Parts: sequence; C-alpha cells; structure tokens
Amino acid sequence: MRKTDGRDAEVVVIGAGMAGLACAADLVAAGVRVMLLEAADTVGGRVATDRVHGFTADRGFQVLNTAYPQVKRRFDLRALRLRPFTPGVLVHTGGELRRFTDPTRRLRDSRDLLPGRLAGPRDLVALGVLSARDMLAPAARLRARPDGTTLTALADAGFSPAFVESFFRPFLSGVFLEDELETSARFFHLVWRTLLRGTACLPADGMGALPAQLAAGLPRSVLRTGTPVLSLTPDGVVLADGSELTAAATVVATGQSAAVRLLPGLAVPSGRTVTTLYHAVGRSPLAEPTLIVDGRRRFLNTCVLTEVHPGYSSDGRALVSTSVLGTPGPADEATVRAALGEVYGTDTGTWETVHRVTVQDALPAMPPPWPLSRSTRFAPGRYVCGDHRATGSLQGALASGTRAAREVLTDLRTSVPAPPRDGG
Ligand SMILES: Cc1cc2nc3c(=O)[nH]c(=O)nc-3n(C[C@H](O)[C@H](O)[C@H](O)COP(=O)(O)OP(=O)(O)OC[C@H]3O[C@@H](n4cnc5c(N)ncnc54)[C@H](O)[C@@H]3O)c2cc1C
Repeated sequence: MRKTDGRDAEVVVIGAGMAGLACAADLVAAGVRVMLLEAADTVGGRVATDRVHGFTADRGFQVLNTAYPQVKRRFDLRALRLRPFTPGVLVHTGGELRRFTDPTRRLRDSRDLLPGRLAGPRDLVALGVLSARDMLAPAARLRARPDGTTLTALADAGFSPAFVESFFRPFLSGVFLEDELETSARFFHLVWRTLLRGTACLPADGMGALPAQLAAGLPRSVLRTGTPVLSLTPDGVVLADGSELTAAATVVATGQSAAVRLLPGLAVPSGRTVTTLYHAVGRSPLAEPTLIVDGRRRFLNTCVLTEVHPGYSSDGRALVSTSVLGTPGPADEATVRAALGEVYGTDTGTWETVHRVTVQDALPAMPPPWPLSRSTRFAPGRYVCGDHRATGSLQGALASGTRAAREVLTDLRTSVPAPPRDGG
C-alpha cells in the first residue's frame, strides 16, 4: 500500500452506507487521500437490492423522494430510470379503499377529501393549514421549532382523534416504523414537507442502484469492500485480519450498533425493526402504482411493485410488497395474508411468498427533542456520522456524511485538534 507522510491515508472512513459514501466523495473532491472500508461485499448498507427467483426485491420496502436536497445534489436521477408512485395513499378503512391525495396535484382524484368521507370539516381545515405551513416555511424554521411527539403536535394542530386514528397513525407508522407516534414532531414536519414537495420513486434496478452510483464516482483505490474494522487505535484502525491502517482522522459511518462498539461511550438511540414480505401473484391485484395503508394496522403498507416498474418481475407475475412492524411469526403472517385478501379484494391463498426480509435497526428511534443534525466530532481525530446523527432517512444519512467531511476538512486544515463535543 502506498504511504505518504508515514500514513496509509489521511482519512479512513468506516462503512460504505449512504453516509460513508457521501463523506468519502466529498473528501476525495477536496483532494484528501481517503480509504473507505466496508465490511460487506457490496456498498449501500441498509440500501440494498436482492435478485430473488427472478424478482427485484429491495432489502425492505423503501423509496426515493425527489425533494431531498441531497438527492438532487448527488444523483444522476435520469440514469436511475426512476418511476413514480401515485401521489398520496389509499387508506383501507371501513371495508373500503379511500384515496388520500394532494388536491393541488390530482384534483380529479380528490373526492374522498370531501367533508365526511375520510375527514370532517375541522380536520380538513387543519390539514390545509398544516400543509401550507410545512410546504412554504423555510426548512430552518421547521428545525428551530420547539419539539414534542408527533401525536401531541397533531392534536395541537387541531386534528380530531378519529382522523389521527384513521389516517395519520396508519400512514406514519410506516414512515417512523413505530405506531405510538412518539417520534419527534420536527421530523414529522420535515417528512410532510418532503411528501408535499417531492415524488416517491423507485429506480429501475432497485434502491441498490443509489449507492452503486455513488460508489462508481469514487476512484478505484478508495473503496475496499469485504474489509471489516475491528477497532480503532490512537492513529487509525485494526482490521479483522489483524493488520493496522494509519490515518490522521477516522470517520465511523457504520450505523448505530456498530458505532457504539467502535466508539465506546457514544450515545446512540434504540433502533426500529421492520419486516417486508414479497408475494408473487399471477395477476396484479391493483392496477396502479399506489401505496395502501391499513386502517386496522395489521400491516404498515403494501403496494404492487410491478405497477411501478414492470421489470421488477422477470416472468410477468406481479410482485407485491407488504411491510409489518417487528418480526412476525407464522400466525402474524397468516393474519397479514388474510388482511391483504380483504384490502385487495381477492383470494390470497395462492399467493407465493418469494422473499421475506427483516431489518433490525432499520431506522433509529427519534424521540423529542430531536436535533435533526449533530456535530460529527467525537474526539480529536475521531468522527461519527450516519442517520442516527441526523434523521432516519436517505437525506439524513447523506447530510450527516456531508457534515462529517466538512468537519474533518476544517480540522485537518487548521491542524488544531478538535475538542470532543459529543462523546456521551
Ligand atoms: C427497510 C428500510 C426502509 C427504509 N425506507 C426509507 C425510505 O423510504 N426513505 C428514506 O429516505 N429512507 C429510508 N430508510 C432509511 C435509510 O435507508 C437509512 O437511514 C440510511 O440508508 C442509513 O445509512 P447509513 O449510512 O447511516 O447507515 P448504513 O446503511 O447502516 O451503513 C453502514 C455501513 O457500515 C458497514 N459497517 C458496519 N460495521 C462495520 C465495520 N466494523 N467495518 C466496516 N464496515 C462496517 C455496514 O456494512 C454498512 O454498509 C429505510 C431503511 C430501511 C432499512
């Protein structure tokens, strides 16, 4: 390995998820010699796609929102061949599907927003005020608001408990991966703003195409996959094979559980677990690319992925994705299958389960007050980034990686060791 100044690299970044990839990309662009070490054989971390029995199945249901500033900045969206979901969602409530949509985008589909269908007049007024405020207010103002739980914020915004139960709780459970609505209201307002401003999409080759595109932009010498880091040393890292690499700065971009192992004393939030079931079906049970949420909360959300991208199936069968909180047992799966039968109005007995994936720590818990972005400085020469330092989202992970690169560069250039800011 080439050594300069006696060191293997100026900066070692541990973990090639979205945060580590963004951090490495910005450091490389600034002319820094970087090594990006990834334990797995591929990049992307939680953003990954499997090819299973001819189907394209992301590692858990996830979407790209085009309104994320980091997405606009970092990706060649055309090359990803994105296709959109229908704006809004279908809510299965009272035995039927009702459409919750943004009337400014799809007026002709907005009849379920007439008073008395999904919501009463008071809820509709509250919805208009909330949406106008979140859409138009500068993001900085949303960030600076006092924080509380989302449940409290919805009550304060004037929504009736009935509307929270029939719409917000089923819908937001799938966004937060928790159904108490105890997640930071600041995060909720940012999510709502993003939904109103952007479009949820899927790349033609699955979500794994996102990190693949970022990795392709790095010089070949930067990335080493299949290289787990065991521990940090005062001037670098120890790899699983016992060898050591030296660097002036080390950035831990591993996800929260591994981060606390590498940086004892780091405070990390708990994680949310989600399971996604993939069913192959002879004929599409819903002829549109729309997310459905369940008012009875037997699952988080479901959609026909092949209505978004027909290429997600290689044999013409439809691919249905359905997510549930936690790790369902066989009895829970039977409940989900029965619920899907009700929701899609079809016999699901013949649906073939082609894949099932459980993701532990899929998202960090974000209890209030949640700062939305934290310094990545942990100790002199040591940095930590990832969604758990910002928000549980692609935007949060990429923004945290960006911030890590900025803070590393500032410290390297001033050569004054940074004081520890957030070691606990
Ligand atoms: C099922 C699911 C659905 C989601 N849905 C959405 C969505 O719709 N929209 C959205 O915006 N966000 C969504 N997210 C959130 C988003 O994907 C994550 O917030 C983001 O990808 C986290 O990136 P990260 O870089 O912080 O961490 P990670 O992706 O966890 O990356 C950490 C990397 O570090 C590596 N690593 C760990 N330990 C070591 C070690 N010792 N040595 C070397 N490497 C190591 C790991 O292998 C991994 O590659 C979803 C997440 C999941 C799981």
